[in-house]
Amino acid sequence: VRTPLVAGNWKMNFDHLEATYFVQKLVWLLRDAKFDYKRCEVALMPAFTALRSVEVLVEADNLKISYGAQTVSVTSQGAFTGDVSADMLAQLGCRYVIVGHSERRKYHPEDDANIVDQVRAVLAAGMQPILCVGESYEERRQGIELEFAVGQVKDVTRDLSQEEVGKLVVAYEPVWAIGTGMVATPQVAQDAARAIRAHVESAFGRGAAQTMRILYGGSVSSHNAQELISQSDVDGFLVGGASLDVEEFATIARLT
Ligand code: 13P
Repeated sequence: VRTPLVAGNWKMNFDHLEATYFVQKLVWLLRDAKFDYKRCEVALMPAFTALRSVEVLVEADNLKISYGAQTVSVTSQGAFTGDVSADMLAQLGCRYVIVGHSERRKYHPEDDANIVDQVRAVLAAGMQPILCVGESYEERRQGIELEFAVGQVKDVTRDLSQEEVGKLVVAYEPVWAIGTGMVATPQVAQDAARAIRAHVESAFGRGAAQTMRILYGGSVSSHNAQELISQSDVDGFLVGGASLDVEEFATIARLT
């Protein structure tokens, strides 16, 4: 029922020329592999500066690649130097916006209230938030990892309608697994995804829970993707480092 999603979070990598080259090569690789875009959705999250180039390519060749941004302003326009609004991103054909990535929570003043406002801004502009949650090593050591990750989902979705929640993608990204090579075991990823889905079901009903895609993120590679995706509540990946290598990223998409 749920179409898997493999999303590459490029973080602060690739200028618009490198992004263009990557998209072209990715499409060739997937074409060679007879990749079925209906079976699995492929998305890229470039830096703001590369979005327009990706849009032009996707439109010109009618590519089946989705794309989006890595964060967004909570305000719609005005005197906010350096910010980019949700409408500006929607205007560029973005389908997704990553919201609440742990790197944003750490290096920028993005707290739960701000993240709720970002989710609202993304939804209001007709795009889908990819909400990132996940515990740090400390919470896992204390054995409170599920409460923590589910709590983050709870805090952000509390005042959303059932319809709004139905448009959300959640990415479970344990902080200890991000960029460390320490991937979660399939069981750990499954337990977190199941706990998140169970909460959504109890708060918003079975329909919203069954349609919501829950991704895993944190040291995903072509070596672990297949095992992780075999878990019933894991619906795809948010890929960091491995999304910068086009062959590796194409392989992950094929395995998903
Ligand atoms: P890595 O895949 O590099 O661990 O990063 C994961 C991530 O943060 C994706 O958003």
